[in-house]
Amino acid sequence: MRKNEIDKTYYDQESAQKLRIKRFLLGVLSYVVVWIVVICFWFWGVFRLSLEKTILLILLSVVINTTFYIMLKSGINRRFKDPSLTLPQIGAGIIFATVVIYLSNAYRGILLILYFIALIFGIFRFGRRQFIVTVCCSVLGYGLVILALWRYHPEVIELKFEILQLLVFFFTSIWFAFIGDYISNLRKRMARSYAQLSNAYKKMEQLARRDYLTGVLNRMGIMEFLELEIERSNRYKNSFSICITDIDYFKRINDNFGHAVGDQVLKTFVEILSSCSRKTDIIGRYGGEEFIIVLTETPLEFAKICLNRCRVAVEMEEFPGLPEGYRVTASFGVTEYSLGENLDSLLSRADRALYMAKKSGKNRVVSLTDKSEEDLDKGEILGARGRSL
Ligand code: GH3
Ligand code: MG
Ligand code: MG
Repeated sequence: MRKNEIDKTYYDQESAQKLRIKRFLLGVLSYVVVWIVVICFWFWGVFRLSLEKTILLILLSVVINTTFYIMLKSGINRRFKDPSLTLPQIGAGIIFATVVIYLSNAYRGILLILYFIALIFGIFRFGRRQFIVTVCCSVLGYGLVILALWRYHPEVIELKFEILQLLVFFFTSIWFAFIGDYISNLRKRMARSYAQLSNAYKKMEQLARRDYLTGVLNRMGIMEFLELEIERSNRYKNSFSICITDIDYFKRINDNFGHAVGDQVLKTFVEILSSCSRKTDIIGRYGGEEFIIVLTETPLEFAKICLNRCRVAVEMEEFPGLPEGYRVTASFGVTEYSLGENLDSLLSRADRALYMAKKSGKNRVVSLTDKSEEDLDKGEILGARGRSL
């Protein structure tokens, strides 16, 4: 995986975790609503627990939520199949609502809303099955409340009315499960479309930096890479070399054998450059039949050896589409980056080296250092078949 892909994955995971914590805090807000309801019920005298026990109950829900918070903050949640902990959080909400409903002596019907407050969080994650299961658990919870009240506190319950309430709750919550599932699917579809769109955008961005014919970086791509390489060099104080190469008498190839053959020659030329250079060296099309090779972490003396190897390989190659024995050659201008200099000055030195290679007879590698700039003739020349001229 490349560095920015690792960064991206890390960033995605971190933002997903932040979103989970945000949803959890929304859940806590719902608990605050329930705590207020419980306290109101207590003051109105329709809550069966003493004040101490009521506070204890509220504290218990605080402990449960703190546990969820610690799990999310420490990253323990990532070990689970559902790192959002949706089901346990909703489960805890349903249990808490059931206990509160059981302890209320009257107006139980209005408290059924508490179940929906818990269930609504399923929209973030649940499928239809999970919705139906949690809805059934809520209905079952309420059913058990009625049973327990009928058994232990028959004075606070009107059975006929409670059963009617249970039925209404059952049907509305089943309806809720279907609507919730529909919204949840819509949300998932939107998330998928968003992921597809951002992938397509990434691909387009990559394509915008590639040369259609040869597949190497285009001018924009190679310039971006060079700017980064210069920054890296300045920061870590290590240098790199850069070469501009141009096919000799390319116009003749086009004129004599046609553009299609010319295109094929360009492709083969790039293949030779790639195979002669290191995997870490970056090739880009500078324009027409001119290419840039960035030899990362390579001082000039080693760059010259590598480029001369490329030059000889081009000269030796039987190019497809050209008559047997037809020699294609290229000229190379190479220089080393000097710490602190800018891209323009680096490119113009490499360009000057190329110009010297062309002027002094083509099919050669000419190197220039920043010190030899004042006197162009001091550029070192490697001639045909690697001879030092
Ligand atoms: P020199 O030896 O001095 O480099 O001369 P040259 O004949 O190579 O001439 P020059 O660099 O001036 O011309 C390059 C030619 O490359 C001109 C243009 O028609 C051709 N060319 C540029 N891009 C493409 C391309 O994508 N495909 C083909 N087939 N030809 C191209
Ligand atoms: Mg040329
Ligand atoms: Mg040219």
